[in-house]
Amino acid sequence: MKQLELLHEGKSKLIYATDSAERIVVRFKDDATAFYNIKRAKIQNKARMNCEISSMVLGYLNENGVKTHFVERLDDEAQLCKVVKHIPVEVIVRNVIAGSMAKRLGIEEGIVPENTIFDLCLMDERLGDPLINDHHAVALGVVTYEELAEIYAASARINSLLVELYAKVGVKLVDFKIEFGRSDDGALFLADELTPDTCRLWDVESGEPLDKDRFRRDMGRVREAYEEVAKRLHNALNK
Ligand code: UDP
Repeated sequence: MKQLELLHEGKSKLIYATDSAERIVVRFKDDATAFYNIKRAKIQNKARMNCEISSMVLGYLNENGVKTHFVERLDDEAQLCKVVKHIPVEVIVRNVIAGSMAKRLGIEEGIVPENTIFDLCLMDERLGDPLINDHHAVALGVVTYEELAEIYAASARINSLLVELYAKVGVKLVDFKIEFGRSDDGALFLADELTPDTCRLWDVESGEPLDKDRFRRDMGRVREAYEEVAKRLHNALNK
């Protein structure tokens, strides 16, 4: 499969066309941004670690019957992925209260709710990807109620599998963000990375974050945290 022209440059990834209309190349970058680009830096080795982590995690989901866009890892920093029609919403799954939810509702970080929380956000950077509810999403014409039910069911399944995987490596999966797309035949696919850029991962023993909060909150040892996650997943998945 040949990598052809650049289709899109995002904050942490580049998307390239290939010689197949059904495949794209996702190439990870070392760039880190936070707070809508206000904070920027390059984190050495992040592209490689994120490619490795996301390839392992999406591969694990594929093996467990979750449809994801991941096909195979191509090199240190790139994956071959399936082309899907993107659905312009983000789902945030929360097992532990942290980040924007803690702030918005005045809840202490670290509290474990009795139920899993699913946030729905509209993907629109000009508006700051606002939190919306199901009715807003349907009224905006981006999804139907039936599609939402399918998206929440897939998100719950992905969450269970990831909680189980991370528990095996001494990591608490606090929250994560995912996006979906549809293939030509209408099947729902997870079409996103799953990395410490998009997940909150707390070391069970020390409670220390092993994710992008180390960058957002100037905690230091960002690169080491990503490398630690990759190393633990390697051991658990024998990759
Ligand atoms: N997240 C993300 N992209 C976004 C927003 C959130 O990957 O545009 C991830 C974030 O890394 C965290 C989870 O989703 O793991 C929940 O983020 P939150 O809503 O708490 O926002 P934040 O604290 O990052 O502003």
